[in-house]
Amino acid sequence: MKTRVAILTTVMILCAGFDWAASGALAMSADEAMSLLKEGNARYVSSRAQYPNQGVDRRNSTATKGQEPFATILSCSDSRVPVEVLFDRGVGDLFVVRVAGNVANVDQTGSIEFAVDHLGTPVLVVLGHTKCGAVAAVAQGAELRGNIIPIGKAICPAVATARKNNPSATGETLVNEAIKANVWQAIEDVFRTSPITVDRVKSGKLKVEGALYDIDTGLVTWMGPDPKQDKLLSDKTR
Ligand SMILES: [Zn+2]
Repeated sequence: MKTRVAILTTVMILCAGFDWAASGALAMSADEAMSLLKEGNARYVSSRAQYPNQGVDRRNSTATKGQEPFATILSCSDSRVPVEVLFDRGVGDLFVVRVAGNVANVDQTGSIEFAVDHLGTPVLVVLGHTKCGAVAAVAQGAELRGNIIPIGKAICPAVATARKNNPSATGETLVNEAIKANVWQAIEDVFRTSPITVDRVKSGKLKVEGALYDIDTGLVTWMGPDPKQDKLLSDKTR
């Protein structure tokens, strides 16, 4: 036991140089944050991008004063989903958690907790996207290898839900339904495994929404809060 305590203490000391402290209370509301995301995406879609907060001044000020991102985004790692670009934002604006298939396994949920709890971002967006190869692989029964397996396992329930709700769907239709179900699945996994996130939502400090990015048009379609959110927030078994 003594050894374990010593190891934990060592880890805490080693981590002391990392900025875990919040940068201060964010003045922005969830509605204001969502407006910035929607306005930025509208600019991107219509080729009117303003590239805000991408200059040396912004880099210097965030390096000196710390970060105060106004939104947490869980998105896929797909190179066609460049989150800051598609929302037309810059340095220090978005806390982006990217992983193939935008799943919410433990490391992603931990990162989300850091952003919503320590940094106080007022919104969490789970951003799926069209033509997602990770979701398509699971929907098509591809053999997954190595460390991709836990990602596939996290996507499986979404594919099962898509099949159940769309019994006749196959091919691209099934994949499209699975991509949407996978957004809800990630939100539900966050709520199921993260009392910290649940508390933030219950106390009105955080809004959680799903969204879908179209890699052909650049448009983000907003899906709203999870239809099961109230049930998930009141789950006593967590
Ligand atoms: Zn993807």
